[in-house]
Amino acid sequence: MSQPRLSTVFTDIDWAKPGKQVGHAWLPYSGHDDAWGAVALPLAVIGNGDGPTVLVTGAIHGDEYEGPIVINELIRTLDASQVKGCLILMPAANAPAMRAASRVSPLDGKNLARVFPGNPFGTPTEQIAAFIHDVLFPKCDAYVDLHAGGSSLFIEESAQVVVTPTLAPEVRERAEDMARWFGAKFTVITDNMGDPRTSCGAAAHLGLAAIAAEMGENGSVSPKGVKRTRECLSRVLARLGVVPGTLPDAPPASRRVRIVPNGGNLLSPGDGYFEPLHELGDTVKPGELAGYLHLLHEPAQVPREVRFAKGGTVYSQRTFGVVKQGNNLCVLVEDEA
Ligand SMILES: [Zn+2]
Repeated sequence: MSQPRLSTVFTDIDWAKPGKQVGHAWLPYSGHDDAWGAVALPLAVIGNGDGPTVLVTGAIHGDEYEGPIVINELIRTLDASQVKGCLILMPAANAPAMRAASRVSPLDGKNLARVFPGNPFGTPTEQIAAFIHDVLFPKCDAYVDLHAGGSSLFIEESAQVVVTPTLAPEVRERAEDMARWFGAKFTVITDNMGDPRTSCGAAAHLGLAAIAAEMGENGSVSPKGVKRTRECLSRVLARLGVVPGTLPDAPPASRRVRIVPNGGNLLSPGDGYFEPLHELGDTVKPGELAGYLHLLHEPAQVPREVRFAKGGTVYSQRTFGVVKQGNNLCVLVEDEA
């Protein structure tokens, strides 16, 4: 029998204690100026009797703020008497990245959404992933991961159901139910371009019903994004029964899509400055001009045409004008049956 992995991250939360606890998970970090110190990762638990245990994370990417704002609001305002079961709230999962306003951690350059299931003896970001995977996931019946596009993306408001080859059909149905009741503009059924190393990909592999939401963009704080995160999160928490509330008779309308396979992810063919010709939500055809790749320092050079390989609806676009070969310029989605 294999032994459970040890966690290097420790916490002042007492998992056996009911009520509201606001504390931290502590990531041991021994830098030049600190022999036995630790990095604080905010962590709150609000427990009250029987019911589901639901984990909500924010700032898996450190430049996405709507999730942390709304999760912190819940931590401050929710009384244990309003909860049935247990809410585990981790508003700044990659706190070092959030403090640096960066997608990746300044401690190791890693992206927390590309290192699951993590490694308790690995780099700081890998240790955080292992704590979420090994310590938090096994306590949970459902998981909501709040994202917001980050610095490099304009992206449609959406909830994603990450489908991995190992995802059990009944777990997928529970995740799809969560996405329906979350009720974002788009529901995206995705294999995350075949990359299973996200938190929701790892949750799917473990049999934990999970959704990841994109509720903002461009490293900003969007007033609409905060409002919609608040609405959508409270609706899904009510649906799960952990924070009871009044639900409408039917979930809100949401367009159910998938990322267009084999060509829906448009990558830059070269270095330069990309001028897109479309906006989010536009419908494009196969072969249609996506934009021009300029060499702005060589005025005589005719800009290079970049075309869509497939048709679809523009779901996300790159924010930065400057691009390197292989950067993601745009992602297309199409209706899922
Ligand atoms: Zn993100």
